[in-house]
Amino acid sequence: MNAPLIDPFARAITYLRVSVTDRCDFRCVYCMSENMQFLPKKELLTLEELDRMCSTFIDLGVKKLRITGGEPLVRRDIMTFFQGMSRHLDSGALEELTLTTNGSQLSRFAEPLYAAGVRRVNISLDTLNEEKFARVTRWGSLVQVLKGVDAALAAGLKVKINAVALKDFNEDELITMTQWCAERDISLTWIEVMPMGDLGNEDRVGQYWALTDLRKQLAQHYTLTELTERTGGPARYVRLEETGQKIGFITPLTHNFCESCNRVRLTCTGDLYLCLGQEDMADLRAPLRNYPNDNAPLQDAIRAAIGIKPKGHDFDYSRQKADGQVTRHMSHTGG
Ligand code: SAM
Ligand code: SF4
Repeated sequence: MNAPLIDPFARAITYLRVSVTDRCDFRCVYCMSENMQFLPKKELLTLEELDRMCSTFIDLGVKKLRITGGEPLVRRDIMTFFQGMSRHLDSGALEELTLTTNGSQLSRFAEPLYAAGVRRVNISLDTLNEEKFARVTRWGSLVQVLKGVDAALAAGLKVKINAVALKDFNEDELITMTQWCAERDISLTWIEVMPMGDLGNEDRVGQYWALTDLRKQLAQHYTLTELTERTGGPARYVRLEETGQKIGFITPLTHNFCESCNRVRLTCTGDLYLCLGQEDMADLRAPLRNYPNDNAPLQDAIRAAIGIKPKGHDFDYSRQKADGQVTRHMSHTGG
């Protein structure tokens, strides 16, 4: 029996987010630059390596796996990986297998995902206006994503929409998006825009719409009941009494959520980031590749990495510049 992963602040690490590719079929303005340079293929963990890596984390007590990217569903043969992970659901070692997706490929993959044991998906959608959608994703098509949402619901997947709150962009859609989700029994989570990646062309401070303000606006239309449930992550939830639906707020910038953090993030190259907002990381690809038939060095490297998990992050917009900024792109670490 392996001892569970406990970090220096007595937090049990039971949640792994895995970025399976840095590539994407969109170029969202807050996430990527238009001419992104992607990693050479040989840098990426193969699907077999991803399987071995995730299985090792599961052996060490990880109960929840979220697959992300880049856009996870553009990785070739990614369904093979999901199908492989379903054995851990069958054995009971893994409690949940989920993904975060932009929805562009869901009309193809919703059913196979369900068949592999996925029951919930997070779909990122910042606007219901076609022209605005094209503007914020640069390359995306709203129609295709809405087809993906329908396919996910039809396949029996529980859908959560994640929307990045952007000042002067989707402020005016707060109520329309809430209603649209309510009609489909979809919960909606708002995310504060984070100072990730290359700020060169984008004014991240100007884009910042504080969720405290968003929440006040919501309270003018609905009765909000605070929910005590926490997921160990940065989200807090309220229920709208009029619709019964759950609304989440991910506020890394206005609240500190680090004390209950239960998660770590693996990049598609096998780097393990211990905190979304800090540079602390460990290379797990070397012990994985150097010892193809022995998992002990990989397990040791994972334990050593958990031993350096920092207490928290330092994001702060309060001084009107993006303090605590981390230069890597969200698509690299995985959102
Ligand atoms: N491509 C998938 C998608 O869009 O859902 C998965 C990866 S994406 C990096 C994961 C999440 O990160 C998305 O919900 C996206 O909106 C969010 N995200 C990307 N850049 C962000 C930023 N600078 N601030 C806040 N959220 C961001
Ligand atoms: Fe792609 Fe998701 Fe980043 Fe948008 S947020 S560019 S969909 S990885």
